[in-house]
Amino acid sequence: MRASVEQRLTAELDQFKRDGVYKRMNFLDSPQAPRVQMEGRGEVIILSSNNYLGLCTVPEVVRAGHEGLDRFGAGTASVRFICGTFTFHRELEAELARFVGAEASLTFVSCWAANEAVCPTLLGPDDVVISDQLNHASIIDSIRLARQIVKCQSAVYKHSDMGDLEEKLQAAKSARTRLIFTDGIFSMEGDIAKLADIVELARKYDAIVAVDDSHATGVLGKTGRGTPEYAGVLGSVDIITSTLGKALGGAAGGFVASSNSLADYLVQRSRPQLFSNALPPTVALSSLAAVKYLGAHPDLVEKLRGNTRYFRDQLKARGFKPLDGDTPIIPVILGETAKAIQMSDMLLDEGVFVTGFGYPVVPKGEARVRCQISAAHSREDLDQALRAFDKVGRQLKLV
Ligand SMILES: *Cc1c(COP(=O)(O)O)cnc(C)c1O
Repeated sequence: MRASVEQRLTAELDQFKRDGVYKRMNFLDSPQAPRVQMEGRGEVIILSSNNYLGLCTVPEVVRAGHEGLDRFGAGTASVRFICGTFTFHRELEAELARFVGAEASLTFVSCWAANEAVCPTLLGPDDVVISDQLNHASIIDSIRLARQIVKCQSAVYKHSDMGDLEEKLQAAKSARTRLIFTDGIFSMEGDIAKLADIVELARKYDAIVAVDDSHATGVLGKTGRGTPEYAGVLGSVDIITSTLGKALGGAAGGFVASSNSLADYLVQRSRPQLFSNALPPTVALSSLAAVKYLGAHPDLVEKLRGNTRYFRDQLKARGFKPLDGDTPIIPVILGETAKAIQMSDMLLDEGVFVTGFGYPVVPKGEARVRCQISAAHSREDLDQALRAFDKVGRQLKLV
């Protein structure tokens, strides 16, 4: 690397360290599970994983990956339209569509890629996308890309503010297409989009709705079908994007679920589909097994809800003030980024792995540790974590 570039990068990295915002990696040496082996530390309890249902290590899910590897080999070695489409892709996509209540779905190597496919492919210069202020970075980048490439218009409404959304819809009356794009569960706050209201506004203003349900698939609704099920609008959301890298086995991959025509249009035209490899067999077949497993074990969703309620209530009983909500994302706001990182470090010393988040991932002054609960946590896991919170909370004079 050229010295000038090297100097610039190292100077900035040093600044991150001085600011206390430098992210250290912790290396795990065992499968993703409630308790893991962390290199150099031994066993720790994870409260930071998106493994909401514990499906990462369910034998059926792991075995399906093995079988995929044996039967189809390591990879697809191609993009879908050249020679990378396999029968398991068709099977997985049909299952995902059925699960989230859509006609069809199309998989991508990540939900990041799925989101990035949606706006630039669907929209044009006469269209407007209206986005929640707290949407995930991948939605924001999809919109930025669409503004650049296809010159669409965009607007941002205040977080979950339906009055503001309505104003933005009114202002977009003359557009050809109005697309409302929202997260299902907002990942940093752990709150849920007001999807029933959004769908109603979309009807009133002839708009379409896209929900990124990455944190909600497998989590929200009686049977884990996500925010539409939770909000009572299953089958009424035009576009659902989600990840296979969280509750659904946690490997990787994402999808867009929608109408047959949109799925086909994305096959024909979306750049992350046309120019990037298809999902590998292990990943696709583990994900397929995860969706089927969830279909057969809806009690996991109930277990997750019970664990979440318990942990949130117990944090409050110990004097913490977690953000309220109905989701397994439980943020405890601490203020300064350095404070959140300090608490996270101290918890790790007590054997609990929970990540601190600061600026620019969350606004300045709202740094937090974000707990995420899993159906796989035992009561003993949660109690041990709570004892660590107690101890560290006292040391930091938070409780
Ligand atoms: C995690 C997440 C993504 C990214 O998912 P990948 O499949 O890992 O790319 C996208 N959107 C939201 C809302 C997420 O939480």
